[in-house]
Amino acid sequence: MATPYILSETPWKTVRDTRYEIAVLPWGATEAHNYHLPFGTDTIETVYIANASAQKAWEKGIRVVTLPAIPLGVNTSQMDIYMTMNLNPSTQFSILTDILDNLKQHGICKFVVLNGHGGNDFKTMIRELQPKYPDIFICQLNWYEAAPLDQFFEEKGDHANEMETSIMMHITPGLVLPLDEAGEGKARQPKFSARKEGWVWFPRAWTRVTEDTGIGNPKKATAAKGQQYLEVITDKIANFFLELSATSQEDLYE
Ligand SMILES: [Zn+2]
Repeated sequence: MATPYILSETPWKTVRDTRYEIAVLPWGATEAHNYHLPFGTDTIETVYIANASAQKAWEKGIRVVTLPAIPLGVNTSQMDIYMTMNLNPSTQFSILTDILDNLKQHGICKFVVLNGHGGNDFKTMIRELQPKYPDIFICQLNWYEAAPLDQFFEEKGDHANEMETSIMMHITPGLVLPLDEAGEGKARQPKFSARKEGWVWFPRAWTRVTEDTGIGNPKKATAAKGQQYLEVITDKIANFFLELSATSQEDLYE
């Protein structure tokens, strides 16, 4: 099946004859995910979600294209875990700048950074870059915040948790080890009540927080839960692409 909404799978003549309107950059990470999920989990999930959402929007006539994913994220507080691959925020800023130069050259005016890793934060970068690219609307979309997790999953957590495990069991079951090999994803909480309430923030020193690198118990994960959750969030993200397509830069506010 032709997938003209995935740039890396599309030949020149199709690209040449299409006028893309929205570009989506999936951004993942390469890091340990408890004992049962692969290092590429965030990237695999994010590419799947970007492509599935783009397909749904494309089928409704929206000319959206997903760019090749950036597979490395900010992992400065996990570097004592062997083979963690960190990309510093300043490097990410350079990459974003180059991507925006490409989009400007090609006349694409809407740009979504589709993020799948909690350590990636593009907000301050977008604040700096947006005025330099006045003709391009730039936004960050964290797919893991697109729907409340407690509507789908029993256990909380934010890393190699029930949600991520369920997604991977659905999309790449061959890369998920049996759940009896997974750790329980027990995590120590930071000491300060202000940190728990969310008005003081500092990064978590990963190996002091969790033994198995996971945060959140994955044991109740199922492929069916993953499928149901993905269906809902890719619908929501496709709808956002639809709204974005219908909205001009001058018309962003109600
Ligand atoms: Zn993850």
